[in-house]
Amino acid sequence: MSDRKIGYIGLGNMGGGMASHLVASGYDVMVYDVRAEAVQELVDKGATAASSPREVAEQCDVIVSSLPTPQSVENAATGENGIVQGLSAGKVYIDMSSIDPDTTRRVGEAVRAKGAEMLDVPVGMGPAQAATGTLTLMIGGDASVVEDCKDVLDTLGDQQFYCGELGLGVTTKIVNNLVSCSVATLLGEAVTMGVAAGLNPERLQEVMDNTAASTLHGRTGLTAKVFERNFEPGFKLALSHKDLGLAAQLAASLGAANMVGSAAYQVQTLAMGKGLGNEDQYSAIKVAEETAGVEVKGDES
Ligand code: NAD
Repeated sequence: MSDRKIGYIGLGNMGGGMASHLVASGYDVMVYDVRAEAVQELVDKGATAASSPREVAEQCDVIVSSLPTPQSVENAATGENGIVQGLSAGKVYIDMSSIDPDTTRRVGEAVRAKGAEMLDVPVGMGPAQAATGTLTLMIGGDASVVEDCKDVLDTLGDQQFYCGELGLGVTTKIVNNLVSCSVATLLGEAVTMGVAAGLNPERLQEVMDNTAASTLHGRTGLTAKVFERNFEPGFKLALSHKDLGLAAQLAASLGAANMVGSAAYQVQTLAMGKGLGNEDQYSAIKVAEETAGVEVKGDES
């Protein structure tokens, strides 16, 4: 661990866990979030509070963010009292949000204009891995900057993949989540069909776990969320919907096919319309359940 001071902006399900883990690992950490209660939680764990992203950038050597949308990254990075205003030569900004590559590259230009450097390092896995430094990191940016930030990256992720220049980390994440979010949505639809046909969903999951239909979504989301009827968010539906939207946008910009992903996006749009955005992404199953007139739950529920 180096003695560089770390700033963390965006203390939600992912950022809150990562910032806590940095504090627990011995780093001097300064934090900021628009939610005062999220900041207080980190201060209680030993972080110091900043009053703006600009103050974080002024006070810290490495500034990290985990924010919900491209717009929130632009606000925090290039907006009034944003990160860029507080940057100077030698500092590094690492954005870990799942956003689009155009926004990343635009922010990267503003960062470089201040003599600082930027990496895009979106992550795979969830809040449990964020809190224990066991995330999967998809890294974009200059290889020498990656090397310079090795201590911080090693603290946050035990699986690291260098994807190429700035913007290719988030591009990798979009493609990854096109698969992940579509599979989670399909799984909800399929298990609902099984229950409507009279199958026991837990037995069905056991079977699928021993065939090519086996997925992490089945082993975690289906069993821990759907069967328990617990839709407290690890990964909010609104964020999954945002990611499928980013995939649609990327496909359109390339003239690439996005047919299965579009169908999953539409299912999630219906779920968003039902006001489920702040529930876990697996709550999209409620669209299929309402259509079929059944509810999927485990024997214990
Ligand atoms: P979240 O909604 O739980 O947290 C986002 C945090 O950002 C909130 O605390 C919010 O108050 C804060 N925020 C919003 N705008 C801000 C601003 N302008 N300045 C400062 N703070 C601001 O979201 P999350 O689940 O932690 O996800 C964060 C990012 O990581 C997203 O891009 C998401 O897609 C991605 N991601 C999430 C997961 C997951 O399992 N939750 C997994 C991988 C990647």
